[in-house]
Amino acid sequence: MKRLILAVGLTGALIASSGSSLGQAGKTEITKWQYGKSGAVSLTFDDGSINQFRVAVPIMDSFGFPATFFIITGNVPGSRYHGTFVGRPTKAIIQEAASVLTSKDNFFERASAIGFLGYKGTLEYHTRAGELYDEGKNLHQAYHLLDEAYEKVRRGGFTPVNTREDFQDGNTITWDELRSLASRGYEFASHTVTHPRLAVLDDANLVYELEMSRRDILDQLGFKHTFSVECPYGTEDERAVHAALLRYQVARNLMPDKDVDDLDRSTKTNPGISQKEYVRWQRGPLTETPMTLMRSWIDKTAAQGNIWLVLVFHGVDGVGWKPKTAAELRDYFGYIRSKEQSVWIATFQDVAKYIRERQHGAISSYRDGEVISVVLRNDLTDLSYDLALTLKTYVPKPWGAVEVRQGERTQSVNVVRANDADYVLYQAVPNAELVTLSQAAPKR
Ligand SMILES: [Zn+2]
Repeated sequence: MKRLILAVGLTGALIASSGSSLGQAGKTEITKWQYGKSGAVSLTFDDGSINQFRVAVPIMDSFGFPATFFIITGNVPGSRYHGTFVGRPTKAIIQEAASVLTSKDNFFERASAIGFLGYKGTLEYHTRAGELYDEGKNLHQAYHLLDEAYEKVRRGGFTPVNTREDFQDGNTITWDELRSLASRGYEFASHTVTHPRLAVLDDANLVYELEMSRRDILDQLGFKHTFSVECPYGTEDERAVHAALLRYQVARNLMPDKDVDDLDRSTKTNPGISQKEYVRWQRGPLTETPMTLMRSWIDKTAAQGNIWLVLVFHGVDGVGWKPKTAAELRDYFGYIRSKEQSVWIATFQDVAKYIRERQHGAISSYRDGEVISVVLRNDLTDLSYDLALTLKTYVPKPWGAVEVRQGERTQSVNVVRANDADYVLYQAVPNAELVTLSQAAPKR
């Protein structure tokens, strides 16, 4: 962590941010969650199926809820990069497969190419072989599947694909629509170019899927939307996750941060047993998931204090995998709204940023008579980490309202009276101007 040097006047006193003098005026900390709440909830949607935008977005708009969409960029019309095989001519691979059985030496190349040979139905073999590999099942069965697929290709068992036509269903979201949603606070994030099993792609194709998806998002929506990624099928394959985290700041499928317990969607582990500062708890509301269970996740998040609940939705109103209905979403979001006093509802990237900026944050505060000065910094090198955090500063007893200034920004906040330790909560941007607090006329 960078050492902070704050120039102070000779008459003042520098206040240690971790001192034992609770209630000492000027003492400042970053609250665990934004706005001093007890937990966070992120609404995330996978695969970009059309009713997420046509049906779920208007419902979220009515509640003022932000959300994050993991989109398969190759499916969006106008993208520069679509599904393809990167490597030697596929004819050579098909030929070779006639005399050399699939093994660990050629498995990744064959699994990468099989979906892009120009036939209908071959992609299925990639997906099935990838599932066997990724889930640690029988590797020889995966090899055998590919042998079977290439053999069928050689004897003309698949129907050729007619260029692009069977690639679109004509009912997809456009980049123009996504831009308009992005301007209203929705986050977009990568779910790769074609949604493959990344674990069985060779390096060139693994990089293509992650990097080209990032480039299309960068070109179409801007840098802000290149923060988050979800590797398809929630893979935790080390090579795939490593390649993803070279290109994105945070992956939904795996968060290796040391103070975060990462409970994936399939886990039955109760987040209540976690001893860590934060628990990232993923839950996927599916068609069959009862509303009472879904509500209990919100209750636990509101009560426990260290939970970031990441809700993963797929289909909506009949379109996409395991869809929830519009009525269920309305009901559920209404319930979340009723707990908004306790839970911070924010995009995936904003919660990840909050946790990291706080973990890497440093505060110096200083009181000189009637003015308290605070410096908020973090040592994160990526420029994305500029989310305003909630600071809690203890103030002198007689203060009733406080004016907070940081650069051009001013906020007027009321003092919270708590057992002899009066404080204010306010927002401050890291690595920016000095924050000053002074007494103000009470808000009416
Ligand atoms: Zn997916």
